[in-house]
Amino acid sequence: TEDLNKTRPEYVKSFQYGSKLMLSTWIVIRIDGCHFHRFSDVHEFEKPNDAQALDLMNSCAAAVLEEFKDIVFAYGVSDEYSFVLKKDSQLYQRRASEIVSAVVSYFSSMYTMRWNEFFPNKEMKYLPYFDGRAVCYPSCEIIKDYLAWRQVDCHINNQYNTCFWLLVKSGKSKSDAQNYLKGTQTQEKNELLDQLSGIVDYYNTLPPMFRQGSSVYWDKETKLQDDEEGAAGKSRRIVVVRYENIIDAGFWEAHPQILD
Ligand code: ATP
Ligand code: ATP
Ligand code: MG
Ligand code: MG
Ligand code: MG
Ligand code: MG
Ligand code: MG
Repeated sequence: TEDLNKTRPEYVKSFQYGSKLMLSTWIVIRIDGCHFHRFSDVHEFEKPNDAQALDLMNSCAAAVLEEFKDIVFAYGVSDEYSFVLKKDSQLYQRRASEIVSAVVSYFSSMYTMRWNEFFPNKEMKYLPYFDGRAVCYPSCEIIKDYLAWRQVDCHINNQYNTCFWLLVKSGKSKSDAQNYLKGTQTQEKNELLDQLSGIVDYYNTLPPMFRQGSSVYWDKETKLQDDEEGAAGKSRRIVVVRYENIIDAGFWEAHPQILD
């Protein structure tokens, strides 16, 4: 009978440690592509920014918002995406491992499923995968600070990468380009960019998606024309992808409904 007791569900389950995320906090699930340096090389992504690859990431993120209704905002850059759950979310009773694994799994499947839509002439050579983590942010201000941090990171990396690849395309080796940029400040990099490209204020001529990263959220869309349902002038909520400055308070003032 003792052996039988050891197969009772209560006994086996008592070993599970269900770490629950703190109540009344905004949960961020940040996913990141594993070894995308290599994945982007093998699949010949344009450097420093492949627009198609970013569009694919954004499309997957939008699908995640449609599937997991508790996600109120997402911000993405490069091979990463941060998903913000509303603070009273009860998804999986707030168990971190289930939330993270479900979001990562959904995103990864979507990435592979939609690959051909974005790269119709490029075969996927091997399967990409993502990892993920969950972090709680206890106030509205801190979640905005978190997102601002990701956007600052986007800017710093993008400025560096844009310089790096202009140097490489101008004939420098990768290690020479790296040494050349060592210790340079923002101002110097901007001057270098103008010099190398021959364009004044070159950095700001880059597409907003590269400079700002991508924000995904539910917004109102007003239909201007009759469609089959004949709902002219009516508005409905749709998931939008925008390339905006989310560091300035202006964005949050214009969209107060996102974080309530
Ligand atoms: P890890 O597994 O630790 O995350 P990683 O190789 O994925 O390693 P990251 O720091 O996540 O490294 O950086 C992702 C890399 O993927 C970038 O450095 C860049 O080379 C490449 N990459 C991702 N998205 C794009 C894109 N849209 N266009 C060009 N390159 C990209
Ligand atoms: P949850 O999201 O909570 O896991 P669920 O619908 O996935 O809900 P489970 O308790 O995980 O429910 O059970 C999986 C269900 O999937 C089974 O009840 C069965 O209906 C179906 N299923 C899974 N694998 C098979 C299979 N090989 N053949 C037929 N049905 C299957
Ligand atoms: Mg990583
Ligand atoms: Mg990565
Ligand atoms: Mg990354
Ligand atoms: Mg389950
Ligand atoms: Mg199941």
